[in-house]
This record gives sequence, C-alpha cells and structure tokens, in this order.
Amino acid sequence: ESITVAELANRMALRQGEVIKSLMKMGVMATATQSIDADTAELVIEEFGHRVRRVAESDVEIGIEGVEDNEADLKPRAPVVTIMGHVDHGKTSLLDALRTTDVAAGEAGGITQHIGAYQVTVPSGAKITFIDTPGHEAFTSMRARGASVTDVVVLVVAADDGVMPQTIEAIRHAKAADAPIIVAINKIDKPGANPDRVRQELLSHEIVVEAMGGDVQDIEVSALKRTGLDKLEEAILLQAEILDLKANPSRVAEGSVIESRLDRGRGPVATVLVQKGTLNRGDIVVAGAEWGRVRAMLDDRGRQLKEAGPSMPVELLGVAGVPGAGEPFVVVENENRAREISEFRQRKLREKAAATQTAARGTLDQMLARIQAGEQKEVALLIKADVQGSAEAIKASVQKLEHEEVGIRVLAASVGQITESDVQLAKASNAIIVAFNVRATSQAREMAQREEVDIRYYSIIYQVTDDVEQLVKGKIAPKH
Ligand code: GDP
Repeated sequence: ESITVAELANRMALRQGEVIKSLMKMGVMATATQSIDADTAELVIEEFGHRVRRVAESDVEIGIEGVEDNEADLKPRAPVVTIMGHVDHGKTSLLDALRTTDVAAGEAGGITQHIGAYQVTVPSGAKITFIDTPGHEAFTSMRARGASVTDVVVLVVAADDGVMPQTIEAIRHAKAADAPIIVAINKIDKPGANPDRVRQELLSHEIVVEAMGGDVQDIEVSALKRTGLDKLEEAILLQAEILDLKANPSRVAEGSVIESRLDRGRGPVATVLVQKGTLNRGDIVVAGAEWGRVRAMLDDRGRQLKEAGPSMPVELLGVAGVPGAGEPFVVVENENRAREISEFRQRKLREKAAATQTAARGTLDQMLARIQAGEQKEVALLIKADVQGSAEAIKASVQKLEHEEVGIRVLAASVGQITESDVQLAKASNAIIVAFNVRATSQAREMAQREEVDIRYYSIIYQVTDDVEQLVKGKIAPKH
C-alpha cells in the first residue's frame, strides 16, 4: 500500500520539494504525483521529526491519521465539553441554557437546531464547544470506536437530589477516559437545595471539590434561572488552559463524526467535529467508510460556513452515506484516494462483521494478541466483587504485577453484579471484566457476547493474579 508524495507533504504541512529532496537523500527518485510505499513514507515522516501511528495491518491508512504535528504549528483551540449526570438532574436544561450565552448568536439570529454539538463564544471572546447529546452512552460508544473528542466532562448533580447511580456511572466513565471533571451543582434555586450535601457525597467517589480542599472545580448553577452559567464557563476555560489544548489549524482537516442521519430532503447529513486542521467547502472527505465532496457546511443555527477550524462542529452535506458516530473523518487529496480508503474500510467492516458472526473470541485472547504484537501496552481490568474488601484486595494484588513494558490499569474496583454499563465501560477501554463471586445480569451477558467483551468469573484471588500475570508476560494460553 502506498501514499503519494504530494499527500505526504500535505499531511506534514511541508512543501512537496522538501519531501522530494528528503527522498532523494535516501536514494528514492519520485515526483509529487508518484506513490511511495508505507515503509519509505515512515522514514520520511520520521526524518521530519513527526511521529507515525500505523493503523494495524492497514498501511493504506498511513499518512492519513499517521502524522503528528510539529509543536511550532500548534495554536490554542476551544475545549470540547460533554455533560453527564443522573437522569432529570438537568443535563438537557443546562445545554439549552448554555447555548443562550453565545454572544456571537445575537446578530444572525436563526433557529437553533440539534446537530449534535454547538459552539458558544463567551464575552471575553473565548469559545467553548458543547457536545449536544448528554449522558455517558454517546460518550462511551464514541470512545469504543476509538474517538476521543471530549476534553472536559461537566458532571451535573441536582442539589436537591444528590449523588445518584448514574452520577457514579458518569464519574467512572469520565475517569476511565482520563477526562477532567467539573462539577455543576444544579437546581440551586430549589427550596430543598443542599449543595454541601452534594460535595460531601462526592467525597466517597473520589471527587474532592475545591470547596472541600480538593482540586475539582465545583460551580453552583441553576439551568432554570440561568445563574452561575458564566462561572461554569470560566471554570471550563480555566481547565482548558491547564490542559493546554492545541491543534494545528493550517493543515488539511481531521476529526470525528458526532452524529449522522438520512435527511428526507437533503440526503445523508453528518455532523463532524474538526479536531485538527481546517475543513473547507469543496474538500473531499472520507468519513468512516463513506466519502464525498463537501457541498455545504452549516452550524447549529443553520448558517452556511466556508471553513471550520479545530474544535468547530459542523453539519456536512455531500457525503454519500451515513457514517457512524465516533468514526474518524479526514480530508484527502482527490477522489481516487477517497474511493480507495472508503473501499478499504468497507472491506474491513465486512470482515469484522463476518468475524463477529463466526465466534466471539473474547477480549482476553485479543488483548494477548495485541500485547504480543506490541500494539497494547497495558492490561485493562474492571473488577467487580461481592464485597469491597475483595475488590480492593484484587486491585492491590494485580497492580503489583505491573511490568515495565506492560502496565496494569484498573478502571474500577467495586461491588455488585455486572451490568450493561460495566460492559460498555470495558468495551470502550478494551478491558476485561473480572467477576469475583458475582454474576452478570442477563442483559449484560448478552451485550458482552455481542460486543465481544470478556467476562471472567473467579472465586479465588490467586487465580485472578495468575491470569493477569500470564497476560502481562504475554504468554497466556487461550481458554477455548
Ligand atoms: P436531564 O434528564 O438530566 O436532561 O434533565 P432535564 O434537563 O430534562 O431536567 C429535568 C427536570 O428538571 C425538568 O423538569 C427541568 O425543568 C428541571 N430543571 C432543570 N434544571 C433546573 C434548575 O436549575 N432548577 C429547577 N428548579 N429545575 C430544573
């Protein structure tokens, strides 16, 4: 598989001549339109100080998502925020309220529409992008597809209700994704509001807010009365500053699909989040396994845009089909290239579907294979036990098995039967579920089978550590 010199140069934001010169030094004579193989491309990429991320067996993808940017080309970008929390705690209300804080909206007006994400400009001129689908399901399913779009999680907790089961789930999902949390204590206007109780309750879930001497920002808000919204936005921007979020706007665009649907009048419509580079009208894009030329780009107020830079969500018209949420999109140099990648991905999808049908092999074997291939450097585990003492004991003993080449990551160690949420979390993090003296609900079992998540049942701790040790050594024998 190969890439043209022109596209390689494009990916690195270099002039074609520079790439051609570098190739000549290696004894390779090529013109801009000629293709070079992946190994040579990799050498060139490294020569220019970029890093290469090779996508498994698919050399076709080299140079597409493969090239990292130079530090000097990076510019600050807006944070991307997902709102999570328990049902009825006000996620949707807060998203609606925050949208009205957009100072750039005024003049143009326009009716807001749900396109999956929107961006607001605050009075200082700073921008924040909000993913307009609250809750952890979308967040986690995107992560399961490899997309990491969220920089900051705003955890909404109703001040009259306190920490509830989905609050705890949201915390786990945010932590598994390594996304920093900001707590929005909502419904502060209500007579029964008790924000201090929320702060107190969060302590037992390892969220220590600033008011309790910790470093998680907590902001009191009322989505209904629209109070505290400016403070919440300030907190998000402060967090963004700490994260030092940057992207290179001067390159061809890459990003992730947020949502997509088939519109009766307009055909396939996909909302994408630009994560690197700038997307222009007329660009040829590949989104998931679909491709097309960008015919129009619209924001959440239906305004036409000519271009969209990093962290900007836009609704795209022109892609031939409906790509899945969480799938990557990328701009390519021409239609042939787009067709090639799209066909390649369609083939991979078919192969994957066939493989899933023949056998759910379980992630333990897959994880082993990835570790042996050097693609995975850590063993991820989700521990569920009958009592907290066992969960903690297992966590402590497996963590001791960490090896300099293979890390061990315990996503969570908690008590209770295995639920669909656990399976979702394990799926998103490529983790194995360790079930110690507990069972899975039938829905969770079905989901695990469907999603190829391995649930391992144990009743003796050393059997857990044995298995993990084998995994770390990359030598475990398949159990099937
Ligand atoms: P979601 O399920 O988390 O998306 O919650 P919703 O946004 O749908 O809100 C659930 C209910 O709480 C609705 O009846 C809202 O009107 C109400 N609600 C949301 N925010 C506030 C608030 O700040 N104050 C009060 N009093 N009610 C709120």
